[in-house]
Amino acid sequence: MLKGFSLAGSNLRYYRKPTRKKKMTGMSVIVVGAGIIGLSVAFEALQCGATVTIVDRDPEGDKASYGNAGGIAVTEVLPASVPGLWKKVPYWLLDPLGPLALRIGHAPHMVPWLWSFARVGSGSDVARISEALASINSRVYDDLVPLFNKVGLAGDLFRKGALTVYETEDGILREKHEWNAKRALGVEVQELSARDVRDMEPALGPIVKSGVFTPQWSHITDPKKVVDVLRTWLAANGAKILRGQVDRVFLTSDGTAVALNGGTTLTATKVVIAAGAWSAQLAEQLGDRMLLESERGYNTTIAAPGVTLEREVIFADRKFVATPLSVGLRIGGAAEFGGLQSPPNFRRSKALVKLAKRYLPGLNEEGGVEWSGHRPATPDSLPVIGRSSLSPHIIYAFGHGHLGLTQGPSTGKIVGDLLFDRAPGLDLSPFSATRFSVRKGKRNDSPDLFLH
Ligand SMILES: Cc1cc2nc3c(=O)[nH]c(=O)nc-3n(C[C@H](O)[C@H](O)[C@H](O)COP(=O)(O)OP(=O)(O)OC[C@H]3O[C@@H](n4cnc5c(N)ncnc54)[C@H](O)[C@@H]3O)c2cc1C
Repeated sequence: MLKGFSLAGSNLRYYRKPTRKKKMTGMSVIVVGAGIIGLSVAFEALQCGATVTIVDRDPEGDKASYGNAGGIAVTEVLPASVPGLWKKVPYWLLDPLGPLALRIGHAPHMVPWLWSFARVGSGSDVARISEALASINSRVYDDLVPLFNKVGLAGDLFRKGALTVYETEDGILREKHEWNAKRALGVEVQELSARDVRDMEPALGPIVKSGVFTPQWSHITDPKKVVDVLRTWLAANGAKILRGQVDRVFLTSDGTAVALNGGTTLTATKVVIAAGAWSAQLAEQLGDRMLLESERGYNTTIAAPGVTLEREVIFADRKFVATPLSVGLRIGGAAEFGGLQSPPNFRRSKALVKLAKRYLPGLNEEGGVEWSGHRPATPDSLPVIGRSSLSPHIIYAFGHGHLGLTQGPSTGKIVGDLLFDRAPGLDLSPFSATRFSVRKGKRNDSPDLFLH
């Protein structure tokens, strides 16, 4: 058994704590979206003294934040598009239940996104993006732990690291560029033999030949519990939570407003758009072109899996994960690009359980609950966090892809800084809304749109 791993906080570099924090009142904020990002923004705005209204078409309902894998994946500091990825993509696409799928009917809509994704992986952008990801991920525990403590989730975070496992002894060597790049950004990496791996996770079968332990990673009890507890806490502490579909965000003579489907208009000093994979529609009405796609993921949660894992396990050769949640063992992954309207294909969930059985021979496959959700994916794997180009009073917080749970509380803090005109402790230019293009010519036709 390997002993002595430091499970201390993620000491990744880059984050500078802001030096000032002032409590302000008199500001009202509408947050569009009650996923982990919107709720985290609402938490911070409320803490800073704002009057907060959260609007969601289904505040308690299913969403990416409710069914994800539950990993606090602070060590994921590389973009999805890295040099060499394109050699693997054709094989993945040819496998009907492989880790990557592109629905043919949606492909023409995705050309600009795919082009941008390909460009990211072909050049020096990788280093720049990785530094930006590290700048957020290095502050995650500073932001997440106080939020969890405050709302009653202190016991729901397990700082046990994660285990990446390979089917070959030289698995880590094949990915050495990625691991070296992570090390250079402050990620702690421990190489393990097959025996070390099984000492840590005895449920893993002989197919596993080597592994890597990343102690800074952690996981939570249950993502649904986290959003439920946070939403309930916000409601109990003064936030208004409204059910409604936001059709339009616009400026008024003295602030901002959102128009709901059905005719209601709500006004506030500032609006934050945190509508996950649906955010692009609202941003584009404001003139900001977004490259944002739904990257559908799948999983199955087995309440009585018959095996025990201590920590999240990442199956690197097959691109899926298993997390021991309080609701059962959650086995999931896959990246399916088919737009927001296409129906889920739950054969992917089933295929992942079959794969998991190869690694976890004692796995009981029966009784699993299948789920699927839309990751809000940008081509450069960076979220959009910043002011809209139309007005500093409309702020974006979406596009967190695979890392929304991880980066939610930090995004909330950063948006809090923007709302209250404080300097955030990191360079926000890589997250800018304008990085995908200059402003579109077509703008929202509201007559009072350009007052600010
Ligand atoms: C299979 C899978 C596994 C994942 N695993 C992890 C993980 O281990 N760790 C991690 O950090 N991240 C993980 N993620 C990613 C993470 O779940 C997402 O990045 C995150 O949940 C996005 O949160 P969000 O608040 O932006 O969006 P969502 O959770 O999708 O919430 C958006 C909300 O906006 C509302 N909305 C949208 N449009 C409107 C509108 N016009 N009017 C009103 N309401 C609107 C929706 O109803 C929804 O409630 C995973 C995702 C998937 C799919």
